[in-house]
Amino acid sequence: MPELPEMETYRRLLTEQLRGYVITDVYIGREKSLNVSTVHFTRKVIGRTVTSIRRRAKHLIFTLDSGEHLLLHLMLGGWMFWGKEADKPDRTIQVRLDTVKGSLYFIGLRLGYLHLLDATGLAERLHPLGPEPLQPELTMEQWLVRMAKKRGRLKLQLVNQHVIAGIGNCYADEICYEAGIRPARACPSLSENDWERLYDSIQRVLRTAIQYGGYMEQPFYTGDRLTGKYTERCQVYDREDEPCPRCGAAIQKETSSGRKMFFCSVCQH
Ligand SMILES: [Zn+2]
Repeated sequence: MPELPEMETYRRLLTEQLRGYVITDVYIGREKSLNVSTVHFTRKVIGRTVTSIRRRAKHLIFTLDSGEHLLLHLMLGGWMFWGKEADKPDRTIQVRLDTVKGSLYFIGLRLGYLHLLDATGLAERLHPLGPEPLQPELTMEQWLVRMAKKRGRLKLQLVNQHVIAGIGNCYADEICYEAGIRPARACPSLSENDWERLYDSIQRVLRTAIQYGGYMEQPFYTGDRLTGKYTERCQVYDREDEPCPRCGAAIQKETSSGRKMFFCSVCQH
């Protein structure tokens, strides 16, 4: 599932391509991806200019000049492609937004959605989310206070969107590896120093992943050289039995509380 770095990469690329353009036509192949009828969506979106594209947690928010917003969550298996009809991948398109410059294709939205919301509706939907890990509002001090009384396993807290926003299965494991802490550790067993290392690792891992365009496999447009360059930099996620980049021991996979966790049993304690 795309996480913060993947959605941030999309945000940057979409801002370059789509911001300031009028949506000239809309195609809906799967009405269930919407929260309103196709007729209503089409009437509200055609002719509107996209004034900004923002990211919050794993969501993107397309703001229209009408003051309404499109809230996107790709969930598992969803992705986007930007281009012309001739370039688009040979896949079922759930939603397509057209501009004079090109079209934005939403693919694999079986679990994901694109919801039309007014300002109040949007605020309600985003309200339960925890802080953005890369925003200056989440200082080390606030992080320590926030995590001080957490219970359960570390990984479950890291992927909990109400605790901290934007981290999922892949980056939680990468962050724990970088910090030298096992993802299955019980939160109360972590020292203040452990939490400080985790804070620094969150910053480092997410910023590096953004720099390398995240891990999405599919290019965003023909000739895209940014998207997905982080895949080869993942240290432990989905690398069971491969050698640890630090010590050479085989990467372990463990399932705990229904979550897969990848880690090095030598480097992580
Ligand atoms: Zn190791």
